[in-house]
Amino acid sequence: MQTGKIGVTSENLFPIIKKFLYSDHDIFLREIVSNAVDATQKLKTLASKGEYNGDVTELKVKVKLDKEAKTLTVSDNGIGMTAEEIEKYINQIAFSGANEFLEKYKKDANAIIGHFGLGFYSSFMVSEKVEIITKSYQEGAKAVKWSCDGTPEYNIDDAERDEVGTDIVMHINSDSEEFLEEHKISEILEKYCKFLPIPVLFGKKKEWKDGKQVDTGEDNQINDTEPNWTKMPADLKDEDYSGFYHRLYPMADEPLFNIHLNVDYPFNLTGILYFPKIKNNFEVQKNKIQLYSNQVFVTDSVEGIVPEFLTLLHGVLDSPDIPLNVSRSYLQSDSNVKKISSHISKKVADRLSDIFKEKRDEFEKKWDDLKIFIEYGMLTDDKFYDRAMKFFLFKNTEDKYFTFEEYEKLIKDSQTDKDKKLVYLYTTNKEEQYTFVEEARGKGYDVLVLDDVLAPHLISRFEQKHSDKQFVRVDADVVENLIKKEDSSKEELTWEQKQELSPVFQAVCPETNNHNFLVDFQDLGENGSPMVITRSEFMRRMKDMSASQGGMNFYGDMPDSLNLVVNTTHPLVKKVVEAKDKKLGKSLEKLATDIETKKAEISELEKAKEGKKEEEVPQADKEKLDSLNSELAKLEENKREKLTGFGKNNKLAKQLVDLALLANNMLKGADLDKFVKRSVELIK
Ligand code: ADP
Repeated sequence: MQTGKIGVTSENLFPIIKKFLYSDHDIFLREIVSNAVDATQKLKTLASKGEYNGDVTELKVKVKLDKEAKTLTVSDNGIGMTAEEIEKYINQIAFSGANEFLEKYKKDANAIIGHFGLGFYSSFMVSEKVEIITKSYQEGAKAVKWSCDGTPEYNIDDAERDEVGTDIVMHINSDSEEFLEEHKISEILEKYCKFLPIPVLFGKKKEWKDGKQVDTGEDNQINDTEPNWTKMPADLKDEDYSGFYHRLYPMADEPLFNIHLNVDYPFNLTGILYFPKIKNNFEVQKNKIQLYSNQVFVTDSVEGIVPEFLTLLHGVLDSPDIPLNVSRSYLQSDSNVKKISSHISKKVADRLSDIFKEKRDEFEKKWDDLKIFIEYGMLTDDKFYDRAMKFFLFKNTEDKYFTFEEYEKLIKDSQTDKDKKLVYLYTTNKEEQYTFVEEARGKGYDVLVLDDVLAPHLISRFEQKHSDKQFVRVDADVVENLIKKEDSSKEELTWEQKQELSPVFQAVCPETNNHNFLVDFQDLGENGSPMVITRSEFMRRMKDMSASQGGMNFYGDMPDSLNLVVNTTHPLVKKVVEAKDKKLGKSLEKLATDIETKKAEISELEKAKEGKKEEEVPQADKEKLDSLNSELAKLEENKREKLTGFGKNNKLAKQLVDLALLANNMLKGADLDKFVKRSVELIK
């Protein structure tokens, strides 16, 4: 029997292990099981080099619970250790500058464990005593038993063990009795060990008998030693990828695509990424990718390790170059990890591009589900944007798909405006904007459907990148003005005419606090709509942007500003104008003469004032001018009231505005009810 003290500085180590590593205590089992797996793999390597002649076909790791003895034991038939090796690998936890380092990292358990290779010592987080019973593979080696109760003192003794290999016996302490529960151990093994490369056995397989689950005689292997990502793509079928996906995410729908990564330069990386099917936009979940290092689970929070948009994907990544035990902040600043990130982005783009080229049909079918990922990638990763331009698809209102290049060709001739800008027309809702879509298509334009949450951002990005292209929603203006071909030569109303007609139609615009109508007049032809309601692209985008940013701000607070475009050549509009002339003609004429007279008097007085200083103008003149101005205002007010009064009572004008509102899906509730009743009345 031999006793000794574990390397000097460990006096500082044990309290730290116990205290500070406590939050991460589940990982002790990962550490112990990984060590066991490593030991078996080392033996395999030795056998392959001819340095070990024993059997290496049955290598395995066994995890055993003994509730009565309060022990958890991890056994392997790996390489084992001699007493000297225990001295070297277990006892001498020698490192320099320990105190300083521990002080600095004591909050980050993973950093300490990884940095010092303290894997084995993490067992003390949950144990009052740990024993190692081990027999080295070396010829004539004797079995030895090491034990330590958490103080720096340890014992080393002879032991009984026939087979080569190691048992780690953890005497679970009273604070950690949860680790004596089968379901807890199963859960940890399932999380960290389910893809380890050597069989890991825990308990017996279960079966249902008389309504109960009972143990069978067969060992229960908890892991798949050859997960699909370790195989060659050529050896895998679609079902294999699908099956593996469901092993990872039992509740998820069938994924859209998978991408099998197999990189060996400039670093090692394998993995399978899946584009999941998302049922709605709110469901998007980040961090479903699992990160492994040589088949040992490391983390499922991959932010900073993979490009942001790929955190939406599912699947696994495995790289021995991703250190097992370092902190997240370290990982994110590591230049290797950064390289991995941009490389993954490239690989994903390459694969998508291949799928697009090889199976365009299938790609198009899945595009509507896929696009959210691609768009997110294009918005957050410039290089991905460039690569994705080859397979990003536009969908038009006929459900046809085009690449950026194809679409440009399609619309170049018909949709280039007078300033040589290519105008992309789009709708965010085919049904609601139906009339506008039809008008545009009737004019020979093509209309895109851009209806998802990221579309507005993508539109801005397109416009930023291509200054010769512009996106305009179909209801941004009347169809004549959506794409301005040449300066309009059509006859326009005079300012006075507009002045006079404005109040008539303003009077029939709905009064709400949310909308603000500007009346405008245009010649849209006899066959055009009598009235059209449009929404300026600029104002709408500003409002949309501020809404998506949340909170109150300038554009968000403004009422929605709409244009009521009145078609001056439409017979029904002409009818309203004629009715106005008939009803108000005389009194308006009289008012017009009175207004003219007042204006003439005012301008005479103003003329007399010219060149004079304020104090030189006679007081009587000043008073006269003031009263003339207020009389003029009254006359104008009177005129406006007459026109407004006429408009309010004109059923046809009201009907025309309601029709325009209806075409925009804006006629609701009581207004809709009135419209229906009025329509019946007009038809009678
Ligand atoms: P690390 O695994 O990071 O080297 P550990 O503290 O976990 O650090 O283990 C220290 C060393 O102890 C290992 O490198 C290995 O040489 C030896 N060791 C640990 N567990 C076993 C085992 N089950 N069989 C053989 N050797 C082991």
